[in-house]
Amino acid sequence: MNELTWILASTTFGLAVGSFLNVVIHRLPRMMDLAEAEFEEATADAPTLAPAPRLSLAFPGSHCPNCSHRITLIQNIPVIGFCLLGGACAACGERISLRYPIVELLGGVAALACVLVFGPTPQAISGMIFIWFAIAMGFIDWEHLVVPDALSLSLLWVGLAFNAFAVHVDPSDAIFGAIGGYTAFWILNAIATRALGRTAIGQGDFKLFAAIGAWFGWQALAPSLLVASATGVVVGYGLIWTGLSKRGQPLCFAPFLLIGALAVLFLGDQLQSWLSGPWRF
Ligand SMILES: [Zn+2]
Repeated sequence: MNELTWILASTTFGLAVGSFLNVVIHRLPRMMDLAEAEFEEATADAPTLAPAPRLSLAFPGSHCPNCSHRITLIQNIPVIGFCLLGGACAACGERISLRYPIVELLGGVAALACVLVFGPTPQAISGMIFIWFAIAMGFIDWEHLVVPDALSLSLLWVGLAFNAFAVHVDPSDAIFGAIGGYTAFWILNAIATRALGRTAIGQGDFKLFAAIGAWFGWQALAPSLLVASATGVVVGYGLIWTGLSKRGQPLCFAPFLLIGALAVLFLGDQLQSWLSGPWRF
């Protein structure tokens, strides 16, 4: 396969994955809410027998959340479908969130970036998979302030599996990365909780940081946390300054951790030498 075919094929596939990520971002938090309600129902003293609506990533098919109008195959084509519909449902005219074409585009850009940076290598494929997970987790945490275990733990296992073949780092670095990531946040949270009197870091972030360690090794933990904190502070103050968020309002952390991990993925060595620069003699 020549280079151009490989680039076009992976970008197209990335756009299609982006379309599926939209389903994950929309449905996974709702599936978690339904599962929680079902659990409360089952453990309640007097359960009502109303069956919970069926919802999975595959069922029901794509439809308008407002009027349940089924989305046709053509309208489901990434980005093009959104443009053909003029950004609104064909049946009821309800506006479609811009998030849909943005996530589809990001899915495609992720694949394109990995192919251009890493060429036709296992790193390119694993890099794409990491970014696709990152897109889903980032948007879900941004909107719902939750990092689903289904994503963070899967990401952790997939990272360990890739690094069993040393795709990004040696297996031992990946294992200590996973242990170190979880432990570091556990300790940081214990200290911060004592100081602030409330939980400072969500449990979901522990697992996500462990997953980042599993993908890029223990060496990546400090650089990715530094980038995450810096971008988090800038965006956090930016949101307060523009009035979009209030002081003291909790801010999601997963998107910033994932930006930190992406910095390690693409800039790895440069980032490491830049960070260790001031201390080198
Ligand atoms: Zn509709």
